[in-house]
Amino acid sequence: MYYLDNAATTPVDPELAKICYETMTELFGNPSSLYTPGMKSEQAINKAREQVAATLGVTAQEIYFTACGTESDSIAILGAAQKNKKWATNIVTTGYEHPAVFKTLDKLAEQGWEIRTIKPSQEGTIDETELLNAVDSKTGLVTFMFVNNEIGSLIDITALARKVKEKTPRTSVHVDGVQGWCKHTAKLTASDVDTFAISGHKMRCPKGIGALYIRKNYIIDAAFVGGGQEKGMRPGTENIPYIVTLGAAAEKYGKTTEKRLAEVTRLNNLLRKELAEIKEVEINSPINGSPYILNFSIEDINSETMLHSLEETQVYVSSGSACSKGAQSHTLIAMDTPPSKINGAIRVSFCDMSTEKDIECLIKGLKEGIKTLLRR
Ligand code: PLP
Repeated sequence: MYYLDNAATTPVDPELAKICYETMTELFGNPSSLYTPGMKSEQAINKAREQVAATLGVTAQEIYFTACGTESDSIAILGAAQKNKKWATNIVTTGYEHPAVFKTLDKLAEQGWEIRTIKPSQEGTIDETELLNAVDSKTGLVTFMFVNNEIGSLIDITALARKVKEKTPRTSVHVDGVQGWCKHTAKLTASDVDTFAISGHKMRCPKGIGALYIRKNYIIDAAFVGGGQEKGMRPGTENIPYIVTLGAAAEKYGKTTEKRLAEVTRLNNLLRKELAEIKEVEINSPINGSPYILNFSIEDINSETMLHSLEETQVYVSSGSACSKGAQSHTLIAMDTPPSKINGAIRVSFCDMSTEKDIECLIKGLKEGIKTLLRR
């Protein structure tokens, strides 16, 4: 199998699966219990907290475990709105956010918040000046993503957060870091980012585990209530095996971010070079985006048709965001990409397991697919 849909989800790392299984069978104590098995579970969670914190250069006390990236985004966004509602009336965001963000903002719009959305350019980039111009003294939150999940646009998150705070220090800044965590270096030490969302399954962990960084002294309310777990921020008995697995992923992959980035950059360049030789292909991803994601369109062939044609050769790619299940890419729509190109969009996304062979099979499958499908 040639799996090139790692922005949708990544295969679980067998080394991490082993740690997960061992934790599940050995550390069964409830971390809130006062006896030894409970304390052992608590210690394991605290170790994982330190491991995740180290990837961002922050303290363990600033990391909260959640069930997924969506939950982390929601807690941060709803928390910021609640925190600033006495003085703020608007929220600034980009036009290419993931549903975890834009649907949460839709809810806030229903409650009366004005959502100011900055459209991406036709190249898939966000104009920082335009975004900053939209921020004023009534902006309660600015929320943007580290790496766009459909085309890979990359934002210098700490620089942008600084500029927002220079303009309005009391505005909250949230970063959806789901597609960037451990793929690009993000050191939040003394940064102006208030909250940063992480999801485990994009980084070789099982689905169902996430984390949220909440800057020290940045106080928000929890989205829901219950027991006091995760300092009340994410109540519910902790998922110890998955938390420990996320910690182990942070330990393993946090140390090799730059090395893996260099290899994925090489693969991305190779793929771009091969695609440049297919005349029906046009690239949609920005040139300076994350190399982990490459989006392109094939003239006159519908994405889904090509996707299934590739599937016959065991090559797996996607037509856009996995969450939209075949719906047209809202990022490409926001970029004013012509409908013919949106219909033919293909997203390729890499992980540390991706190889030249994957690219070779993809290119072969694309060429054969184009030949057969355009003949019909
Ligand atoms: N944010 C981005 C950019 C994503 O790509 C995703 C998942 O695709 C999410 C948030 C949601 O993460 P999860 O699937 O862990 O809820």
